[in-house]
Amino acid sequence: MALRKLVAGNWKMNGDRAALSELDSIDAAAEAHPGVDVAICPPFTLIVPATGRAPGLAIGAQDCHTAISGAHTGCISAEMLRDAGARYVIVGHSERRTDQHESDAEVRAKAEAAIAAGLVAILCVGETEAERDAGRALDVVRGQLQGSIPPAGTGETLVVAYEPVWAIGTGRTPSVADVAEMHAAIRATLGGLLDGEGAAVRILYGGSVKPSNAAELMAVPDVDGALVGGASLKAADFEPIIAAAA
Ligand code: PGA
Repeated sequence: MALRKLVAGNWKMNGDRAALSELDSIDAAAEAHPGVDVAICPPFTLIVPATGRAPGLAIGAQDCHTAISGAHTGCISAEMLRDAGARYVIVGHSERRTDQHESDAEVRAKAEAAIAAGLVAILCVGETEAERDAGRALDVVRGQLQGSIPPAGTGETLVVAYEPVWAIGTGRTPSVADVAEMHAAIRATLGGLLDGEGAAVRILYGGSVKPSNAAELMAVPDVDGALVGGASLKAADFEPIIAAAA
């Protein structure tokens, strides 16, 4: 079953209000390709102005807290994101798993909080280079899924992003065969964890997706879209990736 593709941009800690002008053409590209879901996840500070500027675009966040509200200085809840107009939230990005020491259990709690707030959780998994070199990539990712997938996740509420850590921001990507092998393994694992819903959850590839490699990555079985970092910052780079998903 071919799922509707999702192309999501992760702006990471980049972008000021002037950068929002990029959304005008991204919005137009999304409109030109109605068969593709397009989302941009800017920093928290830009969520409200982004929803105002590009009402046709789905806006997302890059993290949320596990709690609804309370004494958590500096944190932002999924409910707040929903209230600000966000529709997606990335959870468990490898940069947060490393920098903020997020565990699989915490990532699962964040995904559950996101879903409870009515957001779609984009849950990231992926192996390090040392893990791949040791032949452990599939086992590592299966373990991350087992530890972090919320059991109530559905095709409507959950997206998985496979992002090999060594491919993020490096210009390197796995071979098409390796992407196919991993996505098939993720699909099978989701089937075990979510029963019938496992077939409906979109699996994105992320890590150095760019205009020149987007089409071949999108053509891989069980690649249901892309999570794009650097190439989502400029509309001129992001638009061809949207077109490649169409
Ligand atoms: P990249 O980042 O496209 O710049 O490699 C992807 C990501 O971290 O989501």
